[in-house]
Amino acid sequence: MYAVKAGLLIDGTGAAPIHDALMLVNDERVEAVGRAADLGIPDGVEVIDYSGMTVMPGVIDAHTHILYTGKPRANAMSRYGESIAYLSVLATANAKLSLECGVTAIRDVGSTGYIDVALRDAIAEGLVPGPRMKVAGQGVTVTGGHMDPRGLPDYVQIAGRTGVANGPDQMRAAARHQLKMGADLIKINSDGRPGGTTKVYPLTRQEMTFEEMAAVCQVAHWEGKFVATHCAGGSGTMDAIRAGVNTLEHAHWLTDEHIEAMVEMGTFWVPTFTAPYNTLSRGREAADVMDTTWEWKTLAWEGAQESFARARKAGVPIAVGTDAGYRYCYHGETAREMLIMQEIGMTALEAIAAATSVAARAMDWADEIGSLTAGKYADFLVLNGDPLTDLSILLRPEDILRVVKGGQVAVSRESSMPVMA
Ligand SMILES: [Zn+2]
Repeated sequence: MYAVKAGLLIDGTGAAPIHDALMLVNDERVEAVGRAADLGIPDGVEVIDYSGMTVMPGVIDAHTHILYTGKPRANAMSRYGESIAYLSVLATANAKLSLECGVTAIRDVGSTGYIDVALRDAIAEGLVPGPRMKVAGQGVTVTGGHMDPRGLPDYVQIAGRTGVANGPDQMRAAARHQLKMGADLIKINSDGRPGGTTKVYPLTRQEMTFEEMAAVCQVAHWEGKFVATHCAGGSGTMDAIRAGVNTLEHAHWLTDEHIEAMVEMGTFWVPTFTAPYNTLSRGREAADVMDTTWEWKTLAWEGAQESFARARKAGVPIAVGTDAGYRYCYHGETAREMLIMQEIGMTALEAIAAATSVAARAMDWADEIGSLTAGKYADFLVLNGDPLTDLSILLRPEDILRVVKGGQVAVSRESSMPVMA
């Protein structure tokens, strides 16, 4: 057991921050949190003094692709040239980078060759450093769907990338296979732009039938697992909500009808604003994308902002996810999504909750992570400043003085660590 003194403690639940706080950590979990004056330090317990600093939960990213880098190549998501071996090393490096930047848990939603499953286990075993992970294995898609790219000759087979399935029976088989291989959730593609498509319109089109999605949800939910869908809006997104999909990924164009159904079904939204934003914010020239891509992203960003305002008002739970690994979305920069959410209406405290307790709920992991409350893993950051007045501190690793995972110091920047009293 040890006690952490904090000048400011943000617990991640959205509750008001605690000044002059104390947190008791017992082994790998939080024992108690409160005002130092109320809680008191048990006899003989070691005290770590962060009185001049802020303590908050580790950041959670609910939408990553850990084996891609986000580097601006033709399309970071469609690189078939790299071996499973190389991608495994890359994923391992990305996991280390994420943790060093204060990201203590991620949900990986689409991988190759079950690298995500292996990496999750290797991190849990302590073989390599990285965030806690929940993983989807391979996404399940229909023939020619979002994750089964078009434009390749028939003799080219991309084995091990996606689980292609058609019809409810095959969907059940595909979902069962992912679960057998170690997936924590099932990722599907209800609607969107078919893989390899370069046209702007239609903005989205349905790929999976209601029956196909319901079949996946049935199998996943029997095992107590969540289902996440790549989507953009329209009838496919509505069918996904109605079929029982737990999280909508992207979903730029949410209508009032979608939002009403989400509230009714308890569906989470992971908008991944960074996916269009990080391309658009570079400017037309530097973005270096096709005109149609630029136009689609412009429309997606506009649509997503409107959806955000209405979804917030209706009380839809919104979680932070960056699509890290996708073009211009880099691992460890999860806070960019939080800054965007702040820019378009959330308070800093709400944005922090979206990246901690709400993200944990969207990952079906709120019983163990996502807040600094009794019983949760002691996954926390020590910041050299106040994120409530400057959220961008989370993008400056030099100001993230310590990253603690499961009560253990995972990252310590001793040289910048102020002298403790
Ligand atoms: Zn993605």
